[in-house]
Amino acid sequence: MSDKKRLFGTFGVRRTANDVLTPEFASRLAASYGTQIKGTVAVGGDTRTSTLMLKQAVTAGLLSSGCDVVDLGVLPTPGVQYAVRKYYDGGVMITASHNPPQYNGLKFLDEDGIGIPDDMELEIEKLYFDGEPDRVEFSKIGELYHNDKIIDEYVDEAVSKVDVEAIRKANLKVVVDCGSGAGCFTAPYLIRKLGCDVTTLNSQPDGFFPGRNPEPIEENLQELIHVVKELNADIGLAHDGDADRTICIDEKGNFVLGDKTFTLVEKQMLKENDGGIIVTTVATSQAIYDVAEEYNGEVIATAVGDLLVARKLKEEDGLFGGEENGGLIFPDFVYGRDAVMTVAKILEIVAKENKPLSELVDELPVYYASKMKIECRDDEKEYVMTSIAEEIQTTTNFNLDLTDGVKILKDDGWVIIRPSGTEPIFRCFSESDSQKKADEMTEWGMSLIKKYKK
Ligand code: MG
Repeated sequence: MSDKKRLFGTFGVRRTANDVLTPEFASRLAASYGTQIKGTVAVGGDTRTSTLMLKQAVTAGLLSSGCDVVDLGVLPTPGVQYAVRKYYDGGVMITASHNPPQYNGLKFLDEDGIGIPDDMELEIEKLYFDGEPDRVEFSKIGELYHNDKIIDEYVDEAVSKVDVEAIRKANLKVVVDCGSGAGCFTAPYLIRKLGCDVTTLNSQPDGFFPGRNPEPIEENLQELIHVVKELNADIGLAHDGDADRTICIDEKGNFVLGDKTFTLVEKQMLKENDGGIIVTTVATSQAIYDVAEEYNGEVIATAVGDLLVARKLKEEDGLFGGEENGGLIFPDFVYGRDAVMTVAKILEIVAKENKPLSELVDELPVYYASKMKIECRDDEKEYVMTSIAEEIQTTTNFNLDLTDGVKILKDDGWVIIRPSGTEPIFRCFSESDSQKKADEMTEWGMSLIKKYKK
């Protein structure tokens, strides 16, 4: 893409609240979006202290551009995506996902509930900076409605897509850590509706996130791990701030990596549907391909980014997709990472297979990963990538995948060298059948970067 974006990142705009992200900023940006949509826009938000302030500003901007607004209240990002796909012309979610409490952000959706495409983001930026959003005359200003039934509908539809009787019979003991985020309004209710014995942690909404940091990484989930072990629970579940990602803790208290959860659900989806198209990014595990091969699936890999995966799933009428960070996408439900469907599906798998989660994870293909990063100036990135690709093509017979950065595929593993879109760094990530080989491959990737950067 030749035009450079001035505000938008990988999914919407994310900044510190009341610094860049003021009510004035949010209102004008929302009016610029409303100018493009000209219809009914659903608005929702997470539990952050700045969310209500920004929601009022976004609402004012949308109404001024002639859009009607439906306030959905506090709910997960996928809850808004679900509502938009079913009922509305667009949507705005106010959230900074897993970022610290001082941040917030605006995620803009298209009529399918997918994050808007690049060209629309550029149009909005053009209106925001160089033009004027439509400000309609007094008789055409939009109307404000409320819909507080969406959360129940969204949870109930996920419940209807799994075998509730089987889950109920398994009598599972579940601990859920909502991190005081938007999942407080869905996860405990969902798990109870599925007939499990549920214990909640950090399930009171609080924009200061007093219990833990909203990012569901292992170091932030120590309390959950402890409680799972103490209670002899079958599973622990954790969400990020806007409850689109899900992380599992097995019955022994082990943190389950996101690509394991992906592969576990992928296997089940392919078995149930007798195959189908799986979409993921070029940076996820070979295990996904192995499972697809075994169960009649076909994998399509996109560049890194959940929006790209969601859009590809729609285009290809895919069965299932996602990323390695616990963001799983069920395209017949929501075109985006969704936590309620993920939780329902995982509980169904544990119940129906009648095995502990640790055993189900052990049955999956095993690969070892290694990750490093290195600084590199933005203006050097292109040269470094071209040079590496050229060297590999002329001096080796390894296969190359240039979907996103440079991915080098060897017989016993792969390494990907990707420039960060937001920081002056390269990330180097590899996977192989032993930890030693994975580490060596990452070192090799790093040496290639060092060879061509100044
Ligand atoms: Mg999130």
